[in-house]
Amino acid sequence: MKVRLFEIFTSIEGEGILFGTKTLFVRLAGCPFTCFYCDTKESLPLDSGNGYSIEEAYKLIDSNLKDKTFKVNFTGGDPLIQHNAVAKLAEHVQSKKIPTYLESSCFDSNRFCIVLPFIDIVKIEFKTRDSDFVDSQHYETLIENAIKCLELSISSKKTTYIKIVVSAKTKLKDFKFLIDKIFNTISKEEINGFIIQPTFGIEEPSLDLLMKLYDIVYPVYIDVKVVPQLHKLIGAP
Ligand code: SF4
Repeated sequence: MKVRLFEIFTSIEGEGILFGTKTLFVRLAGCPFTCFYCDTKESLPLDSGNGYSIEEAYKLIDSNLKDKTFKVNFTGGDPLIQHNAVAKLAEHVQSKKIPTYLESSCFDSNRFCIVLPFIDIVKIEFKTRDSDFVDSQHYETLIENAIKCLELSISSKKTTYIKIVVSAKTKLKDFKFLIDKIFNTISKEEINGFIIQPTFGIEEPSLDLLMKLYDIVYPVYIDVKVVPQLHKLIGAP
């Protein structure tokens, strides 16, 4: 089996419920989607980065794994593009008793199922309609897949949280549609967090909009938090 990695590095986690933790980031190459705010565009081509055998990738992880690392984050690109390889790499990390973390748009629940057994912490990202992730024809299918991944993660008893990136373009009714969809499917006790993440440096949402979005989630999930990408504030990659 082969895997294509864009980069591998240790840094401070700047997103989500585990921000501030020392993390080994394994950034997989490849993502066919088109979010307008994507901040890892260099990793989108399927031939970006370098190709490795799975055994070479194990060694690369081992040699980059620093002492006192809290978790290993499989990110991208979108790691579900190379789901079989990610499952193998995550299994390798778990064998070292280090928590594994998946950061994906959850666009394909079948691929997600392959990776899930080897992941301890799952960030389920829901894309807003305005993100340009896919065209409007495919948006409903994307959300159905993300919902299915959310259900699978919860039923597998993984630490599961939700993240939604919002921008100045985010419409309240589209956001409300997502929140209704999510909390008509799961109950608030089943997730470990809900993060609203404002875009950084592009179409940044106003504070007024952020508070309106917060107010939509709060009645159904009181622990919702607005958290920016903190790593960018400390110059971390
Ligand atoms: S899914 Fe992630 S990696 Fe792919 S375009 Fe969107 S933000 Fe970028």
